[in-house]
Amino acid sequence: MENPFQYADDLGPTKIIHVYEPALGLKGVLVVDNVAAGPAIGGLRMAPDVSTEECFRLARAMTLKNAAAGLPHGGGKSVIFGDPKLPRRDKEGLIRAFASSLRNTSEYIFGPDMGTNEESMAWVRDEVGRSVGLPRELGGIPLDEIGATGWGLVHAAEVAANHCGLDLEGARVVVQGFGAVGMHAARFLADRGAVLVGASDSRGVVSDPAGLNIDGLRELKSQGKSVAECEGGRKGNLDTILDIDCDIWIPAARPDVLRADNVSRLSTRIVVQGANIPATEQAETYLHDNGVVNIPDFIANAGGVICAAMEYQGSNEAAVFATIEEKIRRNTQLVLHAAVGQNVTPRRAALDLARARVEKAMDFRRWTVFSSAPGFL
Ligand code: NAD
Repeated sequence: MENPFQYADDLGPTKIIHVYEPALGLKGVLVVDNVAAGPAIGGLRMAPDVSTEECFRLARAMTLKNAAAGLPHGGGKSVIFGDPKLPRRDKEGLIRAFASSLRNTSEYIFGPDMGTNEESMAWVRDEVGRSVGLPRELGGIPLDEIGATGWGLVHAAEVAANHCGLDLEGARVVVQGFGAVGMHAARFLADRGAVLVGASDSRGVVSDPAGLNIDGLRELKSQGKSVAECEGGRKGNLDTILDIDCDIWIPAARPDVLRADNVSRLSTRIVVQGANIPATEQAETYLHDNGVVNIPDFIANAGGVICAAMEYQGSNEAAVFATIEEKIRRNTQLVLHAAVGQNVTPRRAALDLARARVEKAMDFRRWTVFSSAPGFL
């Protein structure tokens, strides 16, 4: 039997709940990591190969992301073990049953993640009334459609560019993973004069030093095609996205794409992390040692959760864009300033910033007062 407290440290998790409903074949896990700042927001992931450990790591990442973004929310995550491509009715049954069994766990607010979407969040809301990432018809702000995360990445990129004396006008950008995050980042950067010189998706890579047609690539993706099916440009296999000469390299696909064995192939001045955990610790240290400005995931890609938290408060799209800009610019500046001042990697600086905010929020909570009282326990 695994030790149920193996993940416990001074931040959490406060609850791990296993959900099992044999009649439906439902198996799921909820990890509520830390709720000092408020009820946890985090995605519901549906995949056959998830685990409690993965759920805990993702919940902790949400604690740090939400704290860094200064949101009145802690971090949590939930997973359902299953195939997200199940027939719609079967999937709906599992998601409804999972949400319903967590009806009374009011310190967790469901959001969309891999394998779930706006429709899933509508089912959750119908069951328990607590979800974000809802369809427009239910007051939702469709964060992928409006490009909430891409908008935040652009502001992180602009602050990083100012930091290293790079002009965005004419800056060359490469996007790995031309999906919801990557395509909007490319579009918003192009609005500031940058040029997309390389893009990839799961089926291929295209590059052109003279610039790619972003609208054309988006059109291809909307037709279910690959960016590598565009006319012109140089095509290559997936790995070659690392070798394209650029000023800003944006990972927006998979975890651990930058590692000790390949990071030296990058030829860029800035990395802005759109994907979650796209670089290993060794790769980030390499970037730091080689003068590449690297903005960590939970600082740069918080636009989506900021949008979700604002939706929960009943906010609107215009306010969402303004808040993402303000929060991500300020955090990127704070992190870069601290990294230079303390000669640490931006991730170390970001972790310190986020942890300090969680600890401060914990200071306001009642158990902390009791634990420091003489004779407690
Ligand atoms: P998406 O599915 O819309 O897009 C992902 C893109 O990456 C697709 O075009 C896919 O073809 C491509 N891809 C997959 N494997 C690849 C590979 N090996 N090489 C190159 N391209 C590959 O997903 P998304 O919502 O854009 O999310 C992308 C990443 O950003 C994920 O890591 C996600 O966790 C993270 N993220 C997303 C959001 C959000 O708001 N959607 C917020 C924070 C973090």
